[in-house]
Amino acid sequence: MRAFHDARALAHDPDSYFRRGTIVAHPEQGERWTLLRDAIADAHDLVAPADHGEAPILAVHDAAYVRFLREAWSRRGELPGGADAAEILSGHFARPHMSRRPEGMLGLIGYHTADTSTPIRPGTWEAVHAAAQVAVSAADAALEDGRAYALCRPPGHHAYADSAGGFCFLNNSAIAAERLRTRHSRVAVLDIDVHHGNGTQGVFYTRGDILTISIHADPADYFPYYAGYADEVGVGDGEGANRNIPLPHGSGDAPWLAAIEDALEGIARFAPGALVVALGLDASKDDPIGALAVTTDGFARAAETIARAGLPTAIVQEGGYLCEALPRNLRAVLDAYDAACG
Ligand SMILES: [Zn+2]
Repeated sequence: MRAFHDARALAHDPDSYFRRGTIVAHPEQGERWTLLRDAIADAHDLVAPADHGEAPILAVHDAAYVRFLREAWSRRGELPGGADAAEILSGHFARPHMSRRPEGMLGLIGYHTADTSTPIRPGTWEAVHAAAQVAVSAADAALEDGRAYALCRPPGHHAYADSAGGFCFLNNSAIAAERLRTRHSRVAVLDIDVHHGNGTQGVFYTRGDILTISIHADPADYFPYYAGYADEVGVGDGEGANRNIPLPHGSGDAPWLAAIEDALEGIARFAPGALVVALGLDASKDDPIGALAVTTDGFARAAETIARAGLPTAIVQEGGYLCEALPRNLRAVLDAYDAACG
């Protein structure tokens, strides 16, 4: 299948972050992109995205947030010591009961980010803007070819309309879904990353035209903690168009694949014209920050099952962190999807 990619992904490459009281190597490294690209280069058609501009981004994200992301690095001099910083980050984060958008840069960073995992660096805007273009191009290609892959990096599904978090800045899966929505009256998003797709849920929570289903490790003691529970079903027009399927930590192929079958039955009832798969390879048993135990064969079977739904499908890369199985699992997904399409 066509696999859209853009090397500007490497312009954002954080080296460390503050996690549970300790500075650790940042799991969301540029090397992920290189490994994933190399894994599929000899079997799938690597294609550069078209430049669709900011309009598809603004269809999902608040204009003030997009402006903040675009301008933040050039405004670093407004921060104490910012002119010499390698990256900028706040230690203060807005809370629901304390949510005025301030004018100063330090407060703005905390207003538009949820945690310490999304530092703004010299190439952050370039990378996230390129990843969004990759997602849009894959959505368009899915309608032409029936399927396409978007090698997005940084990932996107933890980004809300107005905030970054969980390594994510722009919600590439939501941007792809909104793009597909311009051609179909109903679109579904199936998120199989090990973490709940909280940003995607947030973006579409009041909408009845975009069904969001997330299968993930139970968030009761796992990121994103504050969302991802089974009783979150959408509100208003969106009531019934959001579904969460949390699984016990350590769940292997059988319960994960059963959840995917279950989700696809719901998607069939919704009868969308197109599908976005938010592909997190961090459901792998080998993932360094994962909490499920999916095997390479499990990923291949998931792809076959999803392909059998017969929907135009944009597969958008979400998580999946450095381990020996990471590139193999991507290859298994794309090969199995193609094989199932005949
Ligand atoms: Zn994840």
